[in-house]
Amino acid sequence: MKIGTYSFEEFLEVVESFHGHSAPGVLMGGFMVTYAMEGLPRDILVDAISETPICLPDAIQLLTPCTLGNGWLKVINLGRFALSLYEKYEGKGVRVFMDPAKLNGKKEIRNWLFKLVPKSEQDRDRLIAEIRDGGRSVLGISHVRVKPQHLGKTKRGAISNCTKCGEPYPENDGPVCLACQGQSPYV
Ligand code: ZN
Repeated sequence: MKIGTYSFEEFLEVVESFHGHSAPGVLMGGFMVTYAMEGLPRDILVDAISETPICLPDAIQLLTPCTLGNGWLKVINLGRFALSLYEKYEGKGVRVFMDPAKLNGKKEIRNWLFKLVPKSEQDRDRLIAEIRDGGRSVLGISHVRVKPQHLGKTKRGAISNCTKCGEPYPENDGPVCLACQGQSPYV
C-alpha cells in the first residue's frame, strides 16, 4: 500500500530523515493522511487539523502542502490520535482516526497506542511490521465539516511595540506582550 507517492520503505527513510527516527506515530500518520486525501476531490485547496501535537503534524507536513509555518495545518490538541483534511473555505472534509474495534490481532499497535508497555520493552520491528501490513485496516474515517471559526487565517489585528520589552506584538493580547504578561518560557 502506498503512502502518498512513496512505498512504505521509502517513507520510512523520509521519516527518519525529517523526524529523527522511524516513529510509529508518523508511519501510522502516513496511512492516515493518504486515506484522508483519497476521500477528498483532487482539485481543491486543502487545510489540515491534527488533534495531537505528537507525530501526526509531521506526517501531514511530509505528505501535503500544509505546514505549521504556512498556516494550512493547525494543531488543536484534543489528545486524540486523529487528523482531518478539508476544503479550505467551506470546511468540508474527512477525519481519520484510530479505531480500537479494529485492533484485534494487532498486539503491538495496541501496546503502542494504549502505552501498555514501556517504550524500552516495545518490540519495535514487530510494531513497524504491524503498521506496514495493517495499513488503513486499523483506521476509521468519517465525513466532517469544520466550524467556521477554524476556517481561514487567524486574524491578529494591529501590531505595536510592547512597552516593556520593546518588541512588536499583537495589540489584542493586552497592554503588553504575552511574554511580558508572564508567559515567557525563559528564566
Ligand atoms: Zn513584551
